[in-house]
Amino acid sequence: MKSSLTNETGLGKVLITQNRLQERVSELGLEISEAYRGKDLALIAILRGSFIFAADLLRAMAISASIDFMAISSYAGQPGSGVVRITKDLDESIAGRNVLLIEDIIDTGLTGNYLLQTLRRRNPASIEICALLDKSVRRIIDLPVAYRGFDIPDVFVVGYGMDYQQQYRNLPHIAILRPKSDQ
Ligand code: IMP
Repeated sequence: MKSSLTNETGLGKVLITQNRLQERVSELGLEISEAYRGKDLALIAILRGSFIFAADLLRAMAISASIDFMAISSYAGQPGSGVVRITKDLDESIAGRNVLLIEDIIDTGLTGNYLLQTLRRRNPASIEICALLDKSVRRIIDLPVAYRGFDIPDVFVVGYGMDYQQQYRNLPHIAILRPKSDQ
């Protein structure tokens, strides 16, 4: 589906269509359901970018799971530094629980690594990462990603919950953001 915003806002081409997203999220939901059937599963959605993915993923699951939210922001507005600040912590304890971190996108891997280290100290029974998108070519730290929606090239993407300066989260698909010079 092409958005009517495309020509007005400098959005580039659609990278992943709404249909393809729905298909893949359904597959992930079933895969996760099989892996955690009979276990106590706690989903943790990392805000804000993963909120739409997390909501769709939960609905695609055939087992019940709790969901909690953690909000983070890059320290001093320096994305890519790997230093993140927790601006909203979890409401529930994760001690003894099987935790699945729901992330929108893994880029360098520094944010995911920080979150894994921080949450492991709270003694979960297990902790894994589920990321909708993976820019694996950009990875600078080894990070285990147990569930991955799509591997994507080194482009800046928006839509389906992901933003650029708080815009475009509403797009039902994933689009590439064109650099200013191309607009
Ligand atoms: P990392 O620490 O480099 O792995 O960065 C991960 C975080 O950077 C993601 O959770 C997003 O918030 C942000 N990010 C990285 N690439 C993109 C992108 O293409 N679009 C939107 N946000 C992105």
